[in-house]
Amino acid sequence: MEAKNGRKAHVLAVAGPAQGHVKPLMKLCRQIAKHGLKVTLVNLQSVHDKLVGEEDNIVQMVSIPDVPIEEDKDDPFKKMKNLRKTMPESLKDLIQGINSSSNPEEKIGFVIADVMVEWLMDTAAEMGAEPILFSPTSAAFRAMMSRIPALLEDGMLDLNGNIEKCEKITLSDDIPAWDKDEFSWSFPHDPKTQKSFFDLINPDRGKIIQPKLHLINTCYELESPACDLRPNLLPVGPLLEMNNSCNFYPEDESCLSWLDTKLPESVIYVSFGSIAVVSQQQLDELALGLELSGRAFLWVVRPDLVNGLRAVYPDGFLERVSGIGMIVEWAPQERVLFHPSVACFLTHCGWNSILEGLSKGVSFLCWPFFMDQFHNQNYICDKWEAGLRVDGDGSGIRTRNEIKEKIGMMFCNGDLKANAMRLKEIFAKTVCEGGSSYNNFERFIDYLRK
Ligand code: UDP
Repeated sequence: MEAKNGRKAHVLAVAGPAQGHVKPLMKLCRQIAKHGLKVTLVNLQSVHDKLVGEEDNIVQMVSIPDVPIEEDKDDPFKKMKNLRKTMPESLKDLIQGINSSSNPEEKIGFVIADVMVEWLMDTAAEMGAEPILFSPTSAAFRAMMSRIPALLEDGMLDLNGNIEKCEKITLSDDIPAWDKDEFSWSFPHDPKTQKSFFDLINPDRGKIIQPKLHLINTCYELESPACDLRPNLLPVGPLLEMNNSCNFYPEDESCLSWLDTKLPESVIYVSFGSIAVVSQQQLDELALGLELSGRAFLWVVRPDLVNGLRAVYPDGFLERVSGIGMIVEWAPQERVLFHPSVACFLTHCGWNSILEGLSKGVSFLCWPFFMDQFHNQNYICDKWEAGLRVDGDGSGIRTRNEIKEKIGMMFCNGDLKANAMRLKEIFAKTVCEGGSSYNNFERFIDYLRK
């Protein structure tokens, strides 16, 4: 595809090394490719190896080496710091290799980097490609990240990422405020981890090249106050792609035929995404809470959900719930959420999960763990009024009785469902011809072609 100014519109997209980053970037790549542009998705080798069925019919998928160092293995912060040093070189080698091909149409014109590897903006520019940033997060999250230098300068945050001088941080009256332990770097019971996290995200703010375009998986109608805070943001979400291939675990499709046997709007879907883990005690409480609710449930229990280990269920639990409950290790989540039997979503409030749930109009039971999940919960419960919190008993445990009670409330509260349905309508409009995300995406494609 020859661009009008002679620049070749071969787009290279580089994923952050996490499930919740690879999947939405792949959706973006597929949408670009459907417009006839050549797109290559780059993953680290260690991620590429995890992908189930990594072939895609329209997006080429390649990998670059991780260059691991021994001390990285159990320390995600060191691993990310190390990647910062090694990944630019690996990417340069890849781009050089592609650009030296005899076919001029192969040359890389644009590099889209996921926010986890934002520093690759500089590498892209160095290699003569136009850098573009992609955030699979809320615009509010992004606005908060951009505000960190100013907050440090004003003394509202200290160098450990703790809030000073005030109780909450507000960016705009129309965006839920961040309470002291609700920042994406907050680990209130583990100051060392919090410091490592804050150091990882903080030092380069303002120093990395600012891209002309920053694509974000949200829509203007959902988050206009946050979008207005960042002039180069281009909201193109929600990015949806039912047969998206980039899973770290095989999808268990048997749950779809199980859902077929259930009444419309009768099932609660339970999933904590790809990273969050629970204690064995918490798993027991959740299992017993689901059972006590008496409602049908589909529960994703990853093989590492219980602090990295397989779950052990309470005595007799599996036999007692065999008629009303189904457990899978990994679900085809978007297809599950779009199934007519699913009524509500007990979620860890990952941004992808929220967008997928809102696209179907399900209401949410919120159970955040870390990162942006607390702020996403505030959006759901306080701003959009499409869900309820599962709070815990003060010791950090969400009890079976609370879980049972909140599930009951979800099925009785018509307002939550009505609000979720209203957002579903907004989503449906924004991605249709003439909608704001649709138009933004078209502008983006024109930009790639010019
Ligand atoms: N997901 C899935 N099957 C599952 C659980 C999760 O396909 O059983 C997908 C989900 O659809 C979403 C992604 O994994 O696209 C998780 O991203 P999210 O931002 O919700 O959470 P994270 O894993 O980053 O915490």
